[in-house]
Amino acid sequence: MVNKSKARILIVDDEKINLRILVDLLKDDYALVLARSGEQALRFSLQNPPPDLILLDVIMPDMGGYEVIKKLKEHDLTKDIPVIFVTALDSVEDEEHGLKLGAVDYITKPFSPPIVKMRIHNHLRFVHQHKLLDKLAYLDALTEISNRRRFDQVLKNEFSRAMRNSTNLSLGMIDVDFFKQYNDHYGHAMGDQALHRIASALDDALKRPADLVARYGGEEFAIILPETDSDSAIQVAERTRIAVISQQIPHLHSSVSDYVSISIGIVTVCALPVNNTENSYEADKTNNSCKIDEMDNLSAIPVPSPDKIPNPTTAENCAGEISNLHTNTKPERPNVPETIKNFGTSTKETQKNKITLGGYTHELLLEEADRNLYIAKQKGRNRIFATRIEKQ
Ligand SMILES: [Mg+2]
Repeated sequence: MVNKSKARILIVDDEKINLRILVDLLKDDYALVLARSGEQALRFSLQNPPPDLILLDVIMPDMGGYEVIKKLKEHDLTKDIPVIFVTALDSVEDEEHGLKLGAVDYITKPFSPPIVKMRIHNHLRFVHQHKLLDKLAYLDALTEISNRRRFDQVLKNEFSRAMRNSTNLSLGMIDVDFFKQYNDHYGHAMGDQALHRIASALDDALKRPADLVARYGGEEFAIILPETDSDSAIQVAERTRIAVISQQIPHLHSSVSDYVSISIGIVTVCALPVNNTENSYEADKTNNSCKIDEMDNLSAIPVPSPDKIPNPTTAENCAGEISNLHTNTKPERPNVPETIKNFGTSTKETQKNKITLGGYTHELLLEEADRNLYIAKQKGRNRIFATRIEKQ
C-alpha cells in the first residue's frame, strides 16, 4: 500500500537493472511507481494523484526521454511535474538539450547514490513548498475559506462551462447585516471571530463538492453554484441564511435580529428554452400569493419591480406560511419562524429578467448578483433577493 505521506516518484527506464538500482536507493523514503517505456510513463503521469517527481531515462525504444518530456510539458495536468533526466549520455550538449526541454536536473550514469539521493530530496522539498504556497495563495487567512482570487478563477471557469454546455449557473453575493455596527460595539477581534464562524457556517451549508464559498472582501462572501437552477439556488441561499442566524452570535445593534444575520443577492443564468421563459414569466407576474415549493421549505414572492415592497398583508401571510412550514418540517430550529415573523415579510423574493445573453460575461453576472444584494438590503436585510437571466 502506498503511504500517503510519502512523496511519489515515477521512475522511467527501459532496463530492469537501472530500475533496480534506483528502487533500492529510494524505496525506503518514497512511494515509487515504475515505468518501462515512454508510453507507460505518460499514462502513469496522468494518474491521480500524479507523481511529485519523474526520473526519466533518455534512450528508450519507441519513445525516448526527450519526446516524453515534450509531451509532459504540453499537457496541463503534467506540465508542472518536475523531471530529472537520469542517463548515460554525458556530453555537455546532451545535458544542455535536456535542461532546455524543461528538466529541472540532469544526472549522468554512473552516479554517486548519496548525491542522487540529496538532489532528489532537494527537488522534492521545493515541490512541497510550491504546493503549500499554491494552497495558501487561494486561501483567505482570516476565515480559512477560499479567497477572492480563487473565487474569480472559479467563476470565470464555471461561467464558460455553463455557456458552453447550456447548463444553469447560480451566483450569490452575501453581506453580513450591520457589520460596521457589530465591529464598533464588540471590537474588531470579536468581528474577526464572527466572520470566521459565519464562513464556517456558510461552508457547512453547501453540500456539493463543486459548490464554492469564498470571502469576497471585508464582510462580503460569495457562493458559486454550478448546474443549479433558480429555485434550488434560493433553497441553498435560504439554508445559508438560516445556518448563519442559527449560530446565534449576539448582535445588540442589528435592527433586524438579535443575532448576526446575512442578506443575499442571487442571480441564475438559466438554460431554458425561450417559449417556457415567456409563459412562466407571465404566470408569475399575476401570481401575487405565496408559493410553497413541494421539495423543500422554499417560498417565493415574485415582485414586479425592485423598488416596490410587497403588499404587507400578503407578506404577513407568507411569513405565516413559512413559519408553519418551518414549524412542521424543522422542529430543531425553533428560532427561525420567530426571526421571519418579526419582519412581517417573506425573506425570499424572486424576479425574472429577460436578457439576451449575447455578449454576457461573468463580470455582468457578478454585477447583477451585487445589485440583488443591494435590493435585499434595501428591503430590510436578513433576506434573499433573486433574479433569473434566461438564455435566448
Ligand atoms: Mg535506456
